[in-house]
Amino acid sequence: MRKMATVRRIDAINPIPDADSIECAVIGGWKVVTKKGEYKPGDLAVYCEIDSWIPNELAPFLSKGEPKEYNSIKGERLRTVRLRKQLSQGLLLPYSILGRIGAEDEDVSEELNIQKWEAPVNPQLAGQVKGNFPSRIPKTDQERVQNLSKELEQYADQVFEVTEKLEGSSMTCYMIENEFGVCSRNLDLKRDENNTFWRVAIEQSIENKMRTLASDNYAIQGELIGPGIQGNIYNLNKHTFRVFDIYDIDAGEYVFPETRHQIVEALGLTHVPLIGFLAIQANMDYLLETAEGNSLLNDKQEREGLVYKAAQGQFSFKAISNKYLLKN
Ligand code: AMP
Ligand code: MN
Repeated sequence: MRKMATVRRIDAINPIPDADSIECAVIGGWKVVTKKGEYKPGDLAVYCEIDSWIPNELAPFLSKGEPKEYNSIKGERLRTVRLRKQLSQGLLLPYSILGRIGAEDEDVSEELNIQKWEAPVNPQLAGQVKGNFPSRIPKTDQERVQNLSKELEQYADQVFEVTEKLEGSSMTCYMIENEFGVCSRNLDLKRDENNTFWRVAIEQSIENKMRTLASDNYAIQGELIGPGIQGNIYNLNKHTFRVFDIYDIDAGEYVFPETRHQIVEALGLTHVPLIGFLAIQANMDYLLETAEGNSLLNDKQEREGLVYKAAQGQFSFKAISNKYLLKN
């Protein structure tokens, strides 16, 4: 689970040109506009990431007029904004809001009643539930590069696979003890041709393709994109499953990117767009700037971002395009 609100130490406070009453706080790779003088470098504070649903009582100033409602809690969603040309992401709340001692990096989302805002699900994706997501397969997720400012250094100059991050819905196909299954991001789904995940799995013969591989227990994970999914930003007229991971369940690890590409090709599946393999620069600004660019699926569309995966390891992260976030 992504930590939406954590106790963090403020790394720096920077001035904003031509602004008298606001300044910019830096927390790892995140920048947030705050009221001048409210925080000092080194202070502890509660940092809430973008897409947090902030209850109205915590920050009434976020609502212009009546607060909105999500899962019966009145409040607002944190979006990426620009104030006086300064990018601002998330929200800082004073440490005193906890009313107790909190440790650095501690997840305080639950006690502050801060949830992750999620877009409403298209009913054709929802499907009927066969069971929980298989416990032996990791759910798909990627840490945001902004939270990795300490970790990045140790990966400097190492080779990473860089792929385009697609804006769709996570889909997992598995083969466990000879049984084939299809899952949405969080659930194992009953076979049903009216459900888009299953329909695509059937159309693309994923079960037969997976049965041709010798390795028995494994999962193929990817993004389902197309009409009715997350606004279909690529303007596709047909659904497709684009692979981004293959997980070897018995080994308990992802197969390395190069092997994944070979398997995807051998099975006749499609991969998410590959940008290339390159040695990364451990530079936050550079990683965020290069996340911006056009999608390889539709060159009139700003891409959502990039995903970096170690060529010979399990470490990976995402860099979301701020240009994309500002537009959406
Ligand atoms: P988010 O969409 O912000 O929750 O980021 C994590 C999700 O990105 C994963 O759960 C995947 O469903 C999705 N995703 C889209 N494209 C890729 C990609 N190229 N590599 C890995 N994950 C991806
Ligand atoms: Mn997504």
